[in-house]
Amino acid sequence: MRNRILTISPITMKRRILAAVRPVGSEWIPIELSRGRILAESVRSRYPSPRMHCSAMDGYAVHHQDLRVASRSKPIRLTVWGEIGAGERMRGKLPADHAARIMTGAPLPSGADCVVPLERIRLDGDDVLLFEHAPRFNDVRQAGSEIGRNQIVLLGGSMIGPAQMAMLAFLDRPRVRVHRRPRVGIISTGDELGAVGQRRPYGHIPDSNRYGLLGLVESAGCVPIDGGRVGDQPAILWKRLMRILPRADFIITSGGVSVGDRDVVKALFHQKEAVNLYRLPIKPGKPQAFGRIGRTPFFGLPGNPVSAMAVFDLIVRPALRKLAGAANVESPRWTATVTRDFPRKTRQWEFPRAAACERGGHWFVSPVASQKSSDLKSMTDADGYVILSPSSPPPVRGTDVVFMPLPT
Ligand code: AMP
Ligand code: MG
Repeated sequence: MRNRILTISPITMKRRILAAVRPVGSEWIPIELSRGRILAESVRSRYPSPRMHCSAMDGYAVHHQDLRVASRSKPIRLTVWGEIGAGERMRGKLPADHAARIMTGAPLPSGADCVVPLERIRLDGDDVLLFEHAPRFNDVRQAGSEIGRNQIVLLGGSMIGPAQMAMLAFLDRPRVRVHRRPRVGIISTGDELGAVGQRRPYGHIPDSNRYGLLGLVESAGCVPIDGGRVGDQPAILWKRLMRILPRADFIITSGGVSVGDRDVVKALFHQKEAVNLYRLPIKPGKPQAFGRIGRTPFFGLPGNPVSAMAVFDLIVRPALRKLAGAANVESPRWTATVTRDFPRKTRQWEFPRAAACERGGHWFVSPVASQKSSDLKSMTDADGYVILSPSSPPPVRGTDVVFMPLPT
C-alpha cells in the first residue's frame, strides 16, 4: 500500500489545489450573453468620455464671465440665442451676453463654459434673468472627465455584471473576450445510492450530493458534466472517470474517501500514484482526496452531504474560480456578531453553519439547529459558515466572528 493518509491544514490544502490549476482558454461572445462571465482581456476606452463638454442639467448655457456681477437685487439679463436638445449640435459661437437653452446631455455650444439650471433662472419675455455668479464648468460634464482616452476601464479576470455589460456597450464593444466556462465532471459514489424519485431497496437513499454539486459547480461559473453515480467498485469508478476525463477540466467525486474497507475512492487511489488521500483537522469534512488523473485535477469530496458542500465551498470553489479565470478567487467574508453561543467541540478548524440577519447595517449570526455533517437540513437552514481557526476564541453570544455567506 503506497498511499499514506496525509494530514495538512485546510490553508495548505487550498494552496495546493490553487497551485494545481491554470485558467482555461478564452472565446469571443456577444455582450448580451456575457453576464457572469470572466473577462479574458482588459478593456480600454477608444476615446474620452464624454466626447465633448455636455450639459449635466436642463438649463441655459452661458459664458460664466457674463454672470460675474449677477446678484439677487441686480440680476443679469441675457438674450436667448436658441435651443439645443440631447444629440443636437448648435452651429456657431455663443455671442457674449447671450444664453442658449440646453437639455441634459446636449453638447455645449462653442464659447459657452457654464450651465445654469432652470430652477435658478427666470424668464422675462425673450430674455433670461440670472441672479447669481456661477463658476466655470458649473453643471457641465467636461470632455474626458469620466473616462480618458485609451484608459483601462474593465480589468481582465473581473466578472461581468450588468454594469459591465452596459459599459461594454458604452465603449462600443459589441463582442468581448471571456474565459470559456470550465467543464467540471461530477460523480457520486456509494452502493447505497439510488435515483431520485424511484423505488429503492431498503436502506438506500437518493443520490442528493450530485444535485448539490451540479448547483455548486454552476454557481462557481463552471459547466457541470454529470457523470452519474457508481457503486463502491474501484474498477467501475475508474471506467467512469476515464469516460468523462476527455471532456473535463476538473473532476469531482463525492463519497468513498474515509478509512473504511468499502471506501471506493480510497481503494482506487491506494493503487495509483497521482492522487493523495488526506485527513484534514477540520469539522466538517476531514477525509479528502486530491491529485491528478492524467493531467486533469481531481478532488474527492467526503460523502456526508454537509461535508461535501462545505469542503466544496471552502477549498474547491476558489480553485474552480481560478480555473474559470477569475482574479479574485475568494468568497466574501463579513464580520458578524453572535446572538446565540455556537458549540465548539474541538480546537481544530471548524465551519459551523449559521443563520444570519442584518439589523441597522450590522450582521448577526446564530447556529442552525443541527451541526451534524450528515444532516442536510443544516445546510438548507443556513445562510453561511462561521469560520473558526484553531486559535479563534469560543464563539459565544456578543462576540464577533468571521462569517462567509453561502454563494448563491
Ligand atoms: P462515505 O463518505 O462514502 O462513507 O459516505 C458518508 C455518508 O454520506 C454516508 O452516510 C453516505 O450514505 C452519505 N452519502 C455518500 N454519498 C452520498 C450522496 N451522493 N448523496 C447523499 N448521501 C451520500
Ligand atoms: Mg460511500
